[in-house]
Amino acid sequence: MHFKRTGFFLFSIFILTRCASAPPELAVADYQIGAALWHQTSGEFRALSYQAYNLARYRLDNELRKKHTKPPAVVVDVDQTVLDGAPYQAELVKKNSSYPDGWNAYVERADGEALPGAAGFLNYAANRGVKVFYVTNRKEPQRAPTRLNLLRRGFPNVDGPGALVLQSSGTSKENHRETIRKNYDVVLLIGDNLGDFDKSFDDKAIADRKHAVDASEKLFGSKYIVLPNTMYGAWEGAVYDYNWKLSPADRDKKRRVLLDGASKAVE
Ligand SMILES: [Mg+2]
Repeated sequence: MHFKRTGFFLFSIFILTRCASAPPELAVADYQIGAALWHQTSGEFRALSYQAYNLARYRLDNELRKKHTKPPAVVVDVDQTVLDGAPYQAELVKKNSSYPDGWNAYVERADGEALPGAAGFLNYAANRGVKVFYVTNRKEPQRAPTRLNLLRRGFPNVDGPGALVLQSSGTSKENHRETIRKNYDVVLLIGDNLGDFDKSFDDKAIADRKHAVDASEKLFGSKYIVLPNTMYGAWEGAVYDYNWKLSPADRDKKRRVLLDGASKAVE
């Protein structure tokens, strides 16, 4: 009995010492809580999604009044543009994990919800004779569940020839857009990531991304329709200088360094 007590005492000391000396474990996904929560709970996100697709309809109507030499087409991204991936991001927070953990399993479920206004607008476009192209960086082996998910949510032209375009080589979508432009007049591009619009935004540093946006100022809200995505995207890649191999601690440092506070205090 005495031995047991002594053993327990020594074990307790060991645990306390370990706790005192071990650095606190970094919650790698906690910084995502606000971002995912905003997408999942705010009426504002729903409003912005409707706003994007209402504007898209207005712009499309304008375009269809013009003469086009080729058939008109609309190019849309998939994730966070027509399908809601916030539940996947929320799962990452709950598991304290990061992409791509569980991504393929999530895609395979094919149960992502449609974003507000997306299916209504694309069906409107298709009914007016406009070709719809889905250009996504999901990978080719994910074609079947992606197709199924889009069909389940009532999206049009999913099975049209060349309509569902998945990532083949590299993340730039420019080559896909060029292929589509050979036969169609792309009148609208809709996405949550600058890379969904033009190659001039690809792989750029933070300041250069902003300059590229300024240089295309008149295209936003006319030819380019942007949906908000606070959870991930090339904007986050730029924060890490596109070095996705950084440790969670180093990513955290990069994020904090870039916060531009009102006090301008430097510690
Ligand atoms: Mg996207």
